[in-house]
Amino acid sequence: TDPAIIRNFCIIAHIDHGKSTLADRMLHLTGVVSDRDMRAQYLDRMDIERERGITIKSQAVRMPWEFEGTNYALNMIDTPGHVDFTYEVSRSLAACEGALLLVDAAQGIEAQTLANLYLAMENDLTIIPVLNKIDLPAADPEKYAKELANLIGGDPEDVLLVSGKTGVGVEALLDRVTQMVPAPVGDVNAPARAMIFDSVYDAYRGVVTYVRMVDGSLKPREKIQMMSTRAVHELLEIGVSSPEPKPSKGLSVGEVGYLITGVKDVRQSKVGDTVTTSQKPAEEALPGYTDPKPMVFSGVYPIDGSDYPILRDALDKLKLSDAALNYEPETSVALGFGFRIGFLGLLHLEIITERLRREFDLDLIATAPSVIYEVTTDDKKTITVTNPSEFPGGKILEVREPVVKAAILAPKDYVGAIMELCQSRRGTLLGMEYFGEDRVELRYNIPLGEIVFDFFDHLKSRTQGYASLDYEPAGDQAADLVKVDILLQGEQVDAFSAIVHREKAYAYGVLMTERLKELIPRQQFEVPIQAAIGARIIARESIRAIRKDVLAKCYGGDISRKRKLLEKQKEGKKRMKMVGRVEVPQEAFIAALSGD
Ligand code: GDP
Ligand code: MG
Repeated sequence: TDPAIIRNFCIIAHIDHGKSTLADRMLHLTGVVSDRDMRAQYLDRMDIERERGITIKSQAVRMPWEFEGTNYALNMIDTPGHVDFTYEVSRSLAACEGALLLVDAAQGIEAQTLANLYLAMENDLTIIPVLNKIDLPAADPEKYAKELANLIGGDPEDVLLVSGKTGVGVEALLDRVTQMVPAPVGDVNAPARAMIFDSVYDAYRGVVTYVRMVDGSLKPREKIQMMSTRAVHELLEIGVSSPEPKPSKGLSVGEVGYLITGVKDVRQSKVGDTVTTSQKPAEEALPGYTDPKPMVFSGVYPIDGSDYPILRDALDKLKLSDAALNYEPETSVALGFGFRIGFLGLLHLEIITERLRREFDLDLIATAPSVIYEVTTDDKKTITVTNPSEFPGGKILEVREPVVKAAILAPKDYVGAIMELCQSRRGTLLGMEYFGEDRVELRYNIPLGEIVFDFFDHLKSRTQGYASLDYEPAGDQAADLVKVDILLQGEQVDAFSAIVHREKAYAYGVLMTERLKELIPRQQFEVPIQAAIGARIIARESIRAIRKDVLAKCYGGDISRKRKLLEKQKEGKKRMKMVGRVEVPQEAFIAALSGD
Protein backbone atom coordinates (compact mmCIF):
# COMPACT_ATOMS: atom_id res chain seq x y z
CA THR A 1 0.00 0.00 0.00
CA ASP A 2 1.19 3.48 -0.89
CA PRO A 3 1.88 5.40 2.35
CA ALA A 4 0.19 8.45 0.83
CA ILE A 5 -3.25 6.86 1.24
CA ILE A 6 -2.69 5.53 4.75
CA ARG A 7 -4.02 7.31 7.83
CA ASN A 8 -3.15 5.95 11.26
CA PHE A 9 -5.19 7.36 14.12
CA CYS A 10 -6.40 6.51 17.56
CA ILE A 11 -9.25 7.57 19.77
CA ILE A 12 -8.40 8.92 23.18
CA ALA A 13 -10.92 9.82 25.84
CA HIS A 14 -11.89 9.57 29.44
CA ILE A 15 -13.48 6.25 30.34
CA ASP A 16 -17.14 5.98 29.30
CA HIS A 17 -17.03 8.91 26.93
CA GLY A 18 -17.85 6.50 24.13
CA LYS A 19 -14.65 5.39 22.38
CA SER A 20 -15.72 1.81 21.86
CA THR A 21 -19.20 2.75 20.68
CA LEU A 22 -17.75 5.22 18.20
CA ALA A 23 -15.20 2.65 17.01
CA ASP A 24 -18.03 0.16 16.45
CA ARG A 25 -19.94 2.78 14.49
CA MET A 26 -16.95 3.37 12.24
CA LEU A 27 -16.59 -0.34 11.54
CA HIS A 28 -20.20 -0.42 10.56
CA LEU A 29 -20.10 2.71 8.40
CA THR A 30 -17.02 1.62 6.48
CA GLY A 31 -18.60 -1.77 5.88
CA VAL A 32 -15.93 -3.88 7.52
CA VAL A 33 -18.49 -5.35 9.88
CA SER A 34 -21.83 -6.31 8.40
CA ASP A 35 -25.17 -5.54 10.01
CA ARG A 36 -25.52 -9.20 10.79
CA ASP A 37 -22.25 -9.42 12.71
CA MET A 38 -22.67 -6.12 14.45
CA ARG A 39 -22.97 -6.38 18.18
CA ALA A 40 -22.29 -3.86 20.83
CA GLN A 41 -18.61 -3.31 21.50
CA TYR A 42 -17.35 -5.50 18.73
CA LEU A 43 -13.82 -4.59 19.61
CA ASP A 44 -14.07 -5.35 23.30
CA ARG A 45 -13.51 -9.05 22.96
CA MET A 46 -13.00 -10.17 26.50
CA ASP A 47 -16.19 -10.95 28.43
CA ILE A 48 -15.07 -8.75 31.26
CA GLU A 49 -14.51 -5.89 28.88
CA ARG A 50 -17.98 -6.20 27.46
CA GLU A 51 -19.67 -6.53 30.83
CA ARG A 52 -17.91 -3.66 32.47
CA GLY A 53 -17.99 -1.67 29.28
CA ILE A 54 -14.30 -0.90 29.44
CA THR A 55 -11.49 -1.62 27.06
CA ILE A 56 -8.49 -3.44 28.45
CA LYS A 57 -6.45 -4.48 25.42
CA SER A 58 -5.95 -2.12 22.52
CA GLN A 59 -7.21 -3.22 19.15
CA ALA A 60 -6.17 -2.10 15.69
CA VAL A 61 -8.50 -2.23 12.70
CA ARG A 62 -8.11 -1.32 9.06
CA MET A 63 -11.04 0.36 7.29
CA PRO A 64 -11.46 1.56 3.71
CA TRP A 65 -12.71 5.14 3.24
CA GLU A 66 -13.33 7.11 0.09
CA PHE A 67 -12.70 10.85 0.17
CA GLU A 68 -12.82 13.16 -2.84
CA GLY A 69 -12.50 10.24 -5.24
CA THR A 70 -9.49 8.60 -3.58
CA ASN A 71 -9.61 5.32 -1.65
CA TYR A 72 -7.84 5.55 1.67
CA ALA A 73 -6.87 2.90 4.21
CA LEU A 74 -7.66 4.10 7.73
CA ASN A 75 -6.03 2.27 10.60
CA MET A 76 -7.92 2.87 13.79
CA ILE A 77 -6.46 1.93 17.12
CA ASP A 78 -8.89 1.76 20.03
CA THR A 79 -7.17 2.45 23.33
CA PRO A 80 -8.06 1.81 26.93
CA GLY A 81 -8.82 4.98 28.86
CA HIS A 82 -8.04 3.96 32.40
CA VAL A 83 -4.99 5.11 34.33
CA ASP A 84 -3.78 1.58 35.01
CA PHE A 85 -3.44 1.02 31.31
CA THR A 86 -1.67 4.21 30.40
CA TYR A 87 1.21 2.16 29.12
CA GLU A 88 -1.14 0.57 26.57
CA VAL A 89 -2.34 3.99 25.53
CA SER A 90 1.15 5.35 25.00
CA ARG A 91 2.15 2.40 22.83
CA SER A 92 -0.87 2.84 20.65
CA LEU A 93 -0.17 6.54 20.33
CA ALA A 94 3.35 5.92 19.10
CA ALA A 95 1.89 3.91 16.21
CA CYS A 96 -0.29 6.82 15.00
CA GLU A 97 -0.02 10.21 13.33
CA GLY A 98 -3.33 11.53 14.60
CA ALA A 99 -5.69 11.28 17.56
CA LEU A 100 -9.39 11.90 17.99
CA LEU A 101 -9.82 13.57 21.34
CA LEU A 102 -13.28 12.43 22.31
CA VAL A 103 -15.28 14.22 25.00
CA ASP A 104 -18.78 13.41 26.26
CA ALA A 105 -20.98 16.38 25.32
CA ALA A 106 -22.90 16.07 28.58
CA GLN A 107 -19.83 15.78 30.83
CA GLY A 108 -17.04 17.86 29.44
CA ILE A 109 -13.34 17.41 30.05
CA GLU A 110 -12.29 14.94 32.73
CA ALA A 111 -9.06 13.81 34.30
CA GLN A 112 -8.12 11.22 31.70
CA THR A 113 -9.09 13.54 28.86
CA LEU A 114 -6.20 15.70 29.99
CA ALA A 115 -3.80 12.85 30.73
CA ASN A 116 -4.40 11.31 27.30
CA LEU A 117 -4.19 14.64 25.54
CA TYR A 118 -0.78 15.29 27.09
CA LEU A 119 0.41 11.86 25.97
CA ALA A 120 -0.78 12.58 22.43
CA MET A 121 0.97 15.93 22.42
CA GLU A 122 4.21 14.31 23.61
CA ASN A 123 3.94 12.03 20.59
CA ASP A 124 3.44 15.00 18.24
CA LEU A 125 0.08 13.76 17.03
CA THR A 126 -2.40 15.86 15.10
CA ILE A 127 -5.34 16.28 17.42
CA ILE A 128 -8.92 16.36 16.23
CA PRO A 129 -11.36 17.54 18.91
CA VAL A 130 -14.72 15.72 18.97
CA LEU A 131 -17.78 16.04 21.17
CA ASN A 132 -19.63 12.74 21.41
CA LYS A 133 -23.13 11.76 22.57
CA ILE A 134 -24.75 14.89 21.18
CA ASP A 135 -28.00 12.91 21.02
CA LEU A 136 -28.25 13.04 24.82
CA PRO A 137 -30.86 15.48 26.13
CA ALA A 138 -28.32 16.70 28.68
CA ALA A 139 -25.72 17.41 26.01
CA ASP A 140 -24.44 20.99 25.97
CA PRO A 141 -22.29 21.09 22.83
CA GLU A 142 -21.91 24.85 22.83
CA LYS A 143 -20.51 25.03 26.34
CA TYR A 144 -18.20 22.07 25.98
CA ALA A 145 -16.99 22.94 22.49
CA LYS A 146 -15.73 26.17 24.00
CA GLU A 147 -14.10 24.27 26.85
CA LEU A 148 -12.41 21.85 24.45
CA ALA A 149 -11.27 24.57 22.04
CA ASN A 150 -9.81 26.50 24.97
CA LEU A 151 -7.90 23.47 26.09
CA ILE A 152 -6.21 22.66 22.80
CA GLY A 153 -6.07 26.21 21.51
CA GLY A 154 -8.48 26.28 18.60
CA ASP A 155 -11.82 27.51 17.40
CA PRO A 156 -15.04 26.10 18.94
CA GLU A 157 -16.43 25.88 15.37
CA ASP A 158 -13.77 23.28 14.53
CA VAL A 159 -14.96 20.88 17.20
CA LEU A 160 -16.85 18.06 15.51
CA LEU A 161 -20.22 17.08 16.93
CA VAL A 162 -21.05 13.38 16.72
CA SER A 163 -23.03 10.57 18.25
CA GLY A 164 -21.44 7.16 18.17
CA LYS A 165 -24.80 5.76 19.12
CA THR A 166 -26.94 7.22 16.33
CA GLY A 167 -24.13 7.69 13.82
CA VAL A 168 -24.71 11.43 13.42
CA GLY A 169 -21.57 13.22 12.27
CA VAL A 170 -19.45 10.09 11.97
CA GLU A 171 -19.03 10.29 8.19
CA ALA A 172 -17.86 13.88 8.48
CA LEU A 173 -15.51 12.70 11.18
CA LEU A 174 -13.92 10.10 8.89
CA ASP A 175 -13.56 12.77 6.20
CA ARG A 176 -11.82 15.01 8.70
CA VAL A 177 -9.41 12.22 9.67
CA THR A 178 -8.52 11.70 6.00
CA GLN A 179 -7.98 15.42 5.53
CA MET A 180 -6.15 16.32 8.71
CA VAL A 181 -4.08 13.32 9.80
CA PRO A 182 -0.71 13.31 8.02
CA ALA A 183 0.27 10.31 5.91
CA PRO A 184 3.02 8.19 7.48
CA VAL A 185 6.58 8.82 6.34
CA GLY A 186 9.33 6.22 6.22
CA ASP A 187 12.05 4.81 3.98
CA VAL A 188 10.62 2.12 1.69
CA ASN A 189 14.06 0.86 0.68
CA ALA A 190 15.68 0.79 4.11
CA PRO A 191 16.05 -2.44 6.13
CA ALA A 192 12.75 -3.38 7.76
CA ARG A 193 11.85 -1.81 11.08
CA ALA A 194 8.50 -2.55 12.66
CA MET A 195 7.46 -1.41 16.10
CA ILE A 196 5.59 -3.86 18.29
CA PHE A 197 2.74 -2.01 19.99
CA ASP A 198 0.80 -4.99 21.24
CA SER A 199 1.25 -8.70 21.71
CA VAL A 200 -1.71 -10.93 22.41
CA TYR A 201 -1.85 -14.60 23.26
CA ASP A 202 -4.43 -16.56 21.34
CA ALA A 203 -5.10 -20.17 22.31
CA TYR A 204 -5.29 -21.28 18.66
CA ARG A 205 -2.75 -19.14 16.89
CA GLY A 206 -0.16 -18.60 19.61
CA VAL A 207 1.13 -15.07 20.06
CA VAL A 208 -0.29 -12.52 17.65
CA THR A 209 2.00 -9.49 17.46
CA TYR A 210 0.64 -6.14 16.33
CA VAL A 211 3.12 -3.91 14.57
CA ARG A 212 3.43 -0.60 12.86
CA MET A 213 5.86 -0.68 9.93
CA VAL A 214 8.19 2.28 10.13
CA ASP A 215 10.75 1.48 7.41
CA GLY A 216 11.04 -1.17 4.69
CA SER A 217 8.70 -4.11 4.47
CA LEU A 218 8.05 -7.62 5.78
CA LYS A 219 6.79 -10.62 3.82
CA PRO A 220 5.43 -14.04 4.76
CA ARG A 221 8.04 -16.81 5.21
CA GLU A 222 10.78 -14.28 5.90
CA LYS A 223 13.06 -14.84 8.88
CA ILE A 224 12.39 -12.01 11.27
CA GLN A 225 14.58 -10.92 14.11
CA MET A 226 13.70 -9.27 17.42
CA MET A 227 16.24 -6.51 17.86
CA SER A 228 16.43 -6.67 21.66
CA THR A 229 17.11 -10.40 21.97
CA ARG A 230 18.37 -11.17 18.45
CA ALA A 231 16.01 -14.15 18.48
CA VAL A 232 15.04 -15.25 14.96
CA HIS A 233 11.60 -16.60 14.05
CA GLU A 234 10.01 -17.59 10.81
CA LEU A 235 7.11 -15.37 9.83
CA LEU A 236 4.28 -17.88 9.40
CA GLU A 237 1.59 -15.34 8.70
CA ILE A 238 1.38 -11.61 8.17
CA GLY A 239 -1.77 -9.58 7.63
CA VAL A 240 -4.16 -6.87 8.68
CA SER A 241 -7.16 -6.91 11.01
CA SER A 242 -10.27 -5.77 9.34
CA PRO A 243 -11.34 -6.53 12.03
CA GLU A 244 -11.02 -10.29 11.53
CA PRO A 245 -7.44 -11.29 10.69
CA LYS A 246 -6.83 -11.17 6.94
CA PRO A 247 -3.51 -12.58 5.69
CA SER A 248 -1.71 -10.36 3.19
CA LYS A 249 1.35 -10.49 0.93
CA GLY A 250 3.25 -8.26 3.29
CA LEU A 251 3.32 -4.98 5.15
CA SER A 252 5.26 -1.90 4.15
CA VAL A 253 5.96 1.64 5.34
CA GLY A 254 3.19 3.13 7.46
CA GLU A 255 1.03 0.03 7.56
CA VAL A 256 -0.40 -1.45 10.72
CA GLY A 257 -0.92 -5.18 10.90
CA TYR A 258 -0.14 -8.42 12.70
CA LEU A 259 2.60 -11.06 12.64
CA ILE A 260 2.37 -14.71 13.66
CA THR A 261 5.52 -16.72 14.27
CA GLY A 262 4.33 -19.61 16.39
CA VAL A 263 5.90 -18.34 19.63
CA LYS A 264 3.82 -19.21 22.67
CA ASP A 265 4.58 -16.50 25.18
CA VAL A 266 4.08 -12.74 24.82
CA ARG A 267 7.42 -12.16 26.52
CA GLN A 268 9.17 -13.50 23.40
CA SER A 269 7.52 -10.82 21.33
CA LYS A 270 7.85 -7.88 23.62
CA VAL A 271 5.90 -4.72 23.28
CA GLY A 272 8.24 -1.87 22.45
CA ASP A 273 10.72 -4.11 20.65
CA THR A 274 11.69 -3.54 17.01
CA VAL A 275 11.25 -6.29 14.42
CA THR A 276 13.69 -6.50 11.53
CA THR A 277 14.76 -9.30 9.16
CA SER A 278 17.76 -11.56 9.77
CA GLN A 279 18.77 -11.27 6.12
CA LYS A 280 19.01 -7.50 6.05
CA PRO A 281 18.91 -6.38 9.66
CA ALA A 282 18.44 -2.74 10.60
CA GLU A 283 21.29 -1.15 12.50
CA GLU A 284 19.38 0.77 15.07
CA ALA A 285 16.26 -0.19 16.97
CA LEU A 286 13.34 2.24 17.20
CA PRO A 287 12.94 4.06 20.50
CA GLY A 288 11.28 1.53 22.82
CA TYR A 289 8.80 1.93 25.58
CA THR A 290 9.60 1.78 29.21
CA ASP A 291 8.50 -1.53 30.67
CA PRO A 292 5.39 -1.24 32.75
CA LYS A 293 6.34 -1.66 36.39
CA PRO A 294 4.08 -3.15 39.02
CA MET A 295 2.98 -0.51 41.51
CA VAL A 296 0.67 -2.42 43.81
CA PHE A 297 1.16 -5.82 45.41
CA SER A 298 -1.31 -8.15 47.01
CA GLY A 299 -1.26 -11.71 48.35
CA VAL A 300 -3.81 -13.85 46.55
CA TYR A 301 -4.87 -17.13 48.17
CA PRO A 302 -7.29 -19.86 47.20
CA ILE A 303 -9.96 -20.22 49.87
CA ASP A 304 -9.79 -23.95 49.40
CA GLY A 305 -6.12 -24.87 49.79
CA SER A 306 -6.43 -27.76 47.33
CA ASP A 307 -7.06 -25.21 44.55
CA TYR A 308 -3.47 -23.99 44.79
CA PRO A 309 -2.26 -25.87 41.66
CA ILE A 310 -5.22 -24.50 39.69
CA LEU A 311 -4.31 -20.98 40.78
CA ARG A 312 -0.71 -21.50 39.72
CA ASP A 313 -1.71 -22.79 36.28
CA ALA A 314 -4.22 -19.98 35.88
CA LEU A 315 -1.58 -17.35 36.58
CA ASP A 316 0.81 -19.01 34.12
CA LYS A 317 -1.93 -18.82 31.48
CA LEU A 318 -2.82 -15.18 32.13
CA LYS A 319 0.86 -14.29 32.03
CA LEU A 320 1.02 -15.50 28.42
CA SER A 321 -1.10 -12.54 27.39
CA ASP A 322 -0.27 -10.01 30.08
CA ALA A 323 3.40 -9.06 30.16
CA ALA A 324 2.72 -6.72 33.07
CA LEU A 325 1.63 -9.53 35.40
CA ASN A 326 4.25 -10.58 37.99
CA TYR A 327 3.89 -13.16 40.72
CA GLU A 328 5.75 -15.44 43.07
CA PRO A 329 4.68 -18.05 45.61
CA GLU A 330 4.01 -16.88 49.15
CA THR A 331 2.81 -18.56 52.30
CA SER A 332 0.85 -17.10 55.15
CA VAL A 333 0.00 -18.42 58.59
CA ALA A 334 -3.56 -17.23 58.27
CA LEU A 335 -4.22 -18.04 54.64
CA GLY A 336 -1.95 -20.93 53.67
CA PHE A 337 -0.32 -21.16 50.23
CA GLY A 338 -0.82 -18.46 47.65
CA PHE A 339 0.95 -15.93 45.45
CA ARG A 340 2.25 -12.43 45.84
CA ILE A 341 1.12 -10.64 42.70
CA GLY A 342 2.36 -7.32 41.36
CA PHE A 343 -0.18 -5.17 39.54
CA LEU A 344 -0.05 -1.94 37.57
CA GLY A 345 -2.79 -0.47 39.73
CA LEU A 346 -6.04 -1.21 41.47
CA LEU A 347 -8.10 -1.78 38.34
CA HIS A 348 -5.50 -4.21 37.06
CA LEU A 349 -5.72 -6.01 40.40
CA GLU A 350 -9.49 -6.12 40.23
CA ILE A 351 -9.52 -7.37 36.66
CA ILE A 352 -6.95 -10.11 37.24
CA THR A 353 -8.62 -11.41 40.39
CA GLU A 354 -11.98 -11.34 38.66
CA ARG A 355 -10.64 -13.22 35.65
CA LEU A 356 -9.15 -15.82 38.00
CA ARG A 357 -12.51 -16.22 39.69
CA ARG A 358 -14.50 -16.31 36.55
CA GLU A 359 -12.41 -17.99 33.90
CA PHE A 360 -10.83 -20.51 36.26
CA ASP A 361 -13.66 -20.87 38.74
CA LEU A 362 -11.48 -20.06 41.74
CA ASP A 363 -12.60 -18.82 45.14
CA LEU A 364 -9.99 -16.34 46.24
CA ILE A 365 -9.08 -13.95 49.00
CA ALA A 366 -6.68 -11.07 48.45
CA THR A 367 -4.76 -9.26 51.19
CA ALA A 368 -4.87 -5.48 51.44
CA PRO A 369 -2.88 -3.95 48.57
CA SER A 370 0.59 -2.68 49.40
CA VAL A 371 2.98 -0.45 47.51
CA ILE A 372 6.79 -0.75 47.26
CA TYR A 373 8.76 0.64 50.21
CA GLU A 374 12.51 1.12 50.41
CA VAL A 375 13.62 0.52 53.97
CA THR A 376 17.10 1.43 55.19
CA THR A 377 18.15 -0.29 58.39
CA ASP A 378 20.67 0.75 61.01
CA ASP A 379 23.52 -1.02 59.20
CA LYS A 380 22.85 1.15 56.11
CA LYS A 381 21.35 -1.70 54.10
CA THR A 382 18.35 -0.84 51.97
CA ILE A 383 15.74 -3.46 51.25
CA THR A 384 12.72 -3.38 49.02
CA VAL A 385 9.51 -4.31 50.80
CA THR A 386 6.37 -5.24 48.90
CA ASN A 387 4.87 -7.28 51.71
CA PRO A 388 4.53 -5.88 55.23
CA SER A 389 5.82 -9.16 56.65
CA GLU A 390 9.21 -8.40 55.05
CA PHE A 391 9.49 -5.11 56.93
CA PRO A 392 12.67 -5.41 59.00
CA GLY A 393 12.58 -5.32 62.78
CA GLY A 394 15.12 -3.39 64.81
CA LYS A 395 16.24 0.17 64.28
CA ILE A 396 15.32 1.81 61.01
CA LEU A 397 17.06 4.84 59.53
CA GLU A 398 14.63 5.68 56.78
CA VAL A 399 11.55 4.45 54.96
CA ARG A 400 10.80 5.74 51.47
CA GLU A 401 7.40 5.44 49.85
CA PRO A 402 6.25 6.04 46.25
CA VAL A 403 4.34 9.22 45.53
CA VAL A 404 2.13 10.13 42.62
CA LYS A 405 1.12 13.33 40.96
CA ALA A 406 -2.64 13.23 41.03
CA ALA A 407 -5.00 15.36 38.97
CA ILE A 408 -8.59 15.60 40.15
CA LEU A 409 -11.24 17.26 38.04
CA ALA A 410 -14.60 18.23 39.49
CA PRO A 411 -17.23 20.96 39.53
CA LYS A 412 -16.00 23.85 41.67
CA ASP A 413 -18.56 23.28 44.44
CA TYR A 414 -16.62 20.23 45.57
CA VAL A 415 -13.23 21.87 45.98
CA GLY A 416 -13.53 22.00 49.78
CA ALA A 417 -14.51 18.35 50.11
CA ILE A 418 -11.71 17.23 47.82
CA MET A 419 -9.09 19.27 49.64
CA GLU A 420 -10.17 17.83 52.94
CA LEU A 421 -9.88 14.30 51.61
CA CYS A 422 -6.46 14.91 50.05
CA GLN A 423 -5.16 16.47 53.24
CA SER A 424 -6.30 13.51 55.29
CA ARG A 425 -4.31 11.37 52.84
CA ARG A 426 -1.14 13.38 53.33
CA GLY A 427 -1.48 15.16 50.00
CA THR A 428 0.33 18.40 49.12
CA LEU A 429 -1.47 20.81 46.86
CA LEU A 430 0.60 21.64 43.78
CA GLY A 431 -1.81 23.82 41.90
CA MET A 432 -5.34 24.56 40.87
CA GLU A 433 -6.77 25.55 37.52
CA TYR A 434 -10.20 26.40 36.14
CA PHE A 435 -11.50 24.90 32.91
CA GLY A 436 -14.57 26.50 31.37
CA GLU A 437 -17.06 28.04 33.75
CA ASP A 438 -17.34 25.66 36.63
CA ARG A 439 -14.77 22.94 36.38
CA VAL A 440 -11.64 22.87 38.47
CA GLU A 441 -8.52 20.79 38.27
CA LEU A 442 -6.67 20.21 41.53
CA ARG A 443 -3.15 18.87 41.35
CA TYR A 444 -1.70 17.05 44.33
CA ASN A 445 1.34 15.10 45.36
CA ILE A 446 0.00 12.11 47.30
CA PRO A 447 1.65 8.95 48.61
CA LEU A 448 0.51 6.07 46.42
CA GLY A 449 -0.08 4.00 49.55
CA GLU A 450 -2.81 6.47 50.54
CA ILE A 451 -4.56 6.07 47.21
CA VAL A 452 -4.56 2.30 46.87
CA PHE A 453 -7.00 1.62 49.66
CA ASP A 454 -10.27 3.39 49.10
CA PHE A 455 -9.34 6.85 47.92
CA PHE A 456 -11.33 6.67 44.72
CA ASP A 457 -14.48 5.48 46.53
CA HIS A 458 -14.21 8.34 48.99
CA LEU A 459 -13.56 10.82 46.22
CA LYS A 460 -16.62 9.65 44.35
CA SER A 461 -18.89 9.70 47.36
CA ARG A 462 -17.74 13.14 48.48
CA THR A 463 -18.41 14.59 45.05
CA GLN A 464 -21.59 12.69 44.23
CA GLY A 465 -19.71 10.86 41.53
CA TYR A 466 -18.62 14.01 39.71
CA ALA A 467 -14.89 13.93 40.36
CA SER A 468 -12.48 12.11 38.12
CA LEU A 469 -8.95 11.11 38.98
CA ASP A 470 -5.76 10.50 37.10
CA TYR A 471 -2.30 9.99 38.49
CA GLU A 472 1.22 9.24 37.42
CA PRO A 473 4.29 8.12 39.36
CA ALA A 474 6.33 11.01 40.74
CA GLY A 475 9.25 9.35 42.46
CA ASP A 476 9.45 8.62 46.17
CA GLN A 477 9.84 10.42 49.47
CA ALA A 478 10.94 9.67 53.00
CA ALA A 479 8.06 9.30 55.44
CA ASP A 480 7.46 8.36 59.04
CA LEU A 481 6.07 4.92 58.36
CA VAL A 482 5.80 2.01 60.74
CA LYS A 483 4.66 -1.56 60.57
CA VAL A 484 1.68 -2.44 62.69
CA ASP A 485 1.38 -6.11 63.61
CA ILE A 486 -1.72 -7.85 64.82
CA LEU A 487 -1.16 -10.51 67.47
CA LEU A 488 -3.45 -13.26 68.68
CA GLN A 489 -2.34 -14.47 72.09
CA GLY A 490 1.08 -13.08 71.35
CA GLU A 491 1.36 -14.75 67.93
CA GLN A 492 1.65 -12.54 64.87
CA VAL A 493 -1.02 -12.99 62.21
CA ASP A 494 0.94 -12.13 59.07
CA ALA A 495 -1.91 -11.33 56.70
CA PHE A 496 -2.97 -8.41 58.91
CA SER A 497 0.33 -6.61 59.24
CA ALA A 498 0.27 -3.23 57.53
CA ILE A 499 2.71 -0.44 56.80
CA VAL A 500 1.07 2.84 57.76
CA HIS A 501 1.99 6.38 58.70
CA ARG A 502 2.80 6.68 62.39
CA GLU A 503 -0.13 9.00 62.95
CA LYS A 504 -2.53 6.44 61.54
CA ALA A 505 -1.07 3.42 63.29
CA TYR A 506 -3.36 3.68 66.31
CA ALA A 507 -6.51 3.94 64.21
CA TYR A 508 -5.48 0.91 62.17
CA GLY A 509 -4.72 -1.06 65.34
CA VAL A 510 -8.08 -0.26 66.91
CA LEU A 511 -9.97 -1.05 63.73
CA MET A 512 -8.36 -4.46 63.23
CA THR A 513 -8.47 -5.60 66.87
CA GLU A 514 -12.15 -4.68 67.10
CA ARG A 515 -12.93 -6.39 63.86
CA LEU A 516 -11.18 -9.61 64.86
CA LYS A 517 -12.84 -9.56 68.26
CA GLU A 518 -16.21 -9.65 66.54
CA LEU A 519 -15.22 -12.40 64.15
CA ILE A 520 -13.19 -14.91 66.16
CA PRO A 521 -15.29 -17.34 68.21
CA ARG A 522 -14.64 -17.79 71.89
CA GLN A 523 -12.13 -20.40 72.99
CA GLN A 524 -11.64 -22.40 76.18
CA PHE A 525 -9.33 -19.65 77.38
CA GLU A 526 -9.13 -15.92 77.11
CA VAL A 527 -7.50 -14.69 73.89
CA PRO A 528 -5.87 -11.28 73.85
CA ILE A 529 -5.85 -9.51 70.49
CA GLN A 530 -3.20 -6.83 70.23
CA ALA A 531 -1.89 -4.35 67.75
CA ALA A 532 1.80 -3.57 68.08
CA ILE A 533 4.57 -1.51 66.59
CA GLY A 534 7.63 -3.64 67.25
CA ALA A 535 7.38 -4.59 70.93
CA ARG A 536 5.08 -1.71 71.83
CA ILE A 537 1.39 -2.54 72.16
CA ILE A 538 -0.78 0.25 70.78
CA ALA A 539 -4.26 -1.29 71.01
CA ARG A 540 -5.82 -4.31 72.62
CA GLU A 541 -9.04 -6.24 72.88
CA SER A 542 -9.76 -9.64 74.26
CA ILE A 543 -12.06 -12.51 73.54
CA ARG A 544 -13.40 -13.89 76.78
CA ALA A 545 -13.20 -17.61 77.47
CA ILE A 546 -16.26 -19.80 77.06
CA ARG A 547 -17.74 -19.94 80.49
CA LYS A 548 -19.09 -23.46 80.43
CA ASP A 549 -17.70 -26.50 78.71
CA VAL A 550 -20.20 -27.33 75.96
CA LEU A 551 -19.95 -30.95 76.95
CA ALA A 552 -20.87 -30.21 80.53
CA LYS A 553 -24.49 -29.99 79.51
CA CYS A 554 -24.31 -33.59 78.42
CA TYR A 555 -22.60 -34.77 81.55
CA GLY A 556 -23.92 -38.18 82.41
CA GLY A 557 -26.52 -37.85 79.71
CA ASP A 558 -27.16 -39.57 76.44
CA ILE A 559 -23.90 -40.83 74.98
CA SER A 560 -25.07 -40.56 71.36
CA ARG A 561 -25.91 -36.91 71.84
CA LYS A 562 -22.42 -36.35 73.06
CA ARG A 563 -20.93 -38.04 70.00
CA LYS A 564 -23.11 -36.02 67.66
CA LEU A 565 -21.93 -32.83 69.24
CA LEU A 566 -18.30 -33.85 68.85
CA GLU A 567 -18.86 -34.70 65.20
CA LYS A 568 -20.47 -31.36 64.59
CA GLN A 569 -17.51 -29.61 66.10
CA LYS A 570 -15.15 -31.62 63.94
CA GLU A 571 -16.94 -30.53 60.80
CA GLY A 572 -16.72 -26.95 61.87
CA LYS A 573 -12.99 -27.39 62.24
CA LYS A 574 -12.41 -28.23 58.61
CA ARG A 575 -11.20 -24.79 57.73
CA MET A 576 -9.75 -23.92 61.07
CA LYS A 577 -6.36 -22.28 61.12
CA MET A 578 -4.18 -22.56 64.17
CA VAL A 579 -2.48 -19.41 65.34
CA GLY A 580 -0.45 -20.66 68.27
CA ARG A 581 -3.07 -22.31 70.49
CA VAL A 582 -5.93 -20.33 69.02
CA GLU A 583 -8.28 -21.90 66.54
CA VAL A 584 -9.65 -19.46 64.01
CA PRO A 585 -12.11 -20.32 61.25
CA GLN A 586 -10.63 -19.18 57.96
CA GLU A 587 -13.90 -17.36 57.28
CA ALA A 588 -13.07 -15.01 60.14
CA PHE A 589 -9.78 -14.03 58.51
CA ILE A 590 -11.45 -13.59 55.17
CA ALA A 591 -14.21 -11.44 56.63
CA ALA A 592 -11.70 -9.32 58.54
CA LEU A 593 -9.63 -8.76 55.38
CA SER A 594 -12.56 -7.88 53.20
CA GLY A 595 -13.90 -5.57 55.86
CA ASP A 596 -17.38 -7.14 55.84
P1 GDP B 1 -15.60 3.91 26.38
O1 GDP B 1 -15.36 3.57 27.82
O2 GDP B 1 -15.06 5.25 26.06
O3 GDP B 1 -15.16 2.85 25.42
O4 GDP B 1 -17.19 4.09 26.25
P2 GDP B 1 -18.28 3.13 25.65
O5 GDP B 1 -18.27 3.15 24.16
O6 GDP B 1 -18.16 1.79 26.31
O7 GDP B 1 -19.60 3.91 26.09
C1 GDP B 1 -19.91 4.18 27.45
C2 GDP B 1 -21.42 4.33 27.61
O8 GDP B 1 -21.89 5.45 26.88
C3 GDP B 1 -22.20 3.14 27.08
O9 GDP B 1 -23.29 2.91 27.95
C4 GDP B 1 -22.68 3.59 25.71
O10 GDP B 1 -23.88 2.95 25.33
C5 GDP B 1 -22.90 5.07 25.94
N1 GDP B 1 -22.68 5.84 24.70
C6 GDP B 1 -21.61 5.80 23.91
N2 GDP B 1 -21.75 6.64 22.86
C7 GDP B 1 -22.96 7.23 22.99
C8 GDP B 1 -23.68 8.22 22.24
O11 GDP B 1 -23.25 8.73 21.21
N3 GDP B 1 -24.89 8.57 22.72
C9 GDP B 1 -25.42 8.05 23.85
N4 GDP B 1 -26.61 8.46 24.24
N5 GDP B 1 -24.77 7.13 24.59
C10 GDP B 1 -23.55 6.72 24.17
MG1 MG C 1 -14.19 1.05 25.61
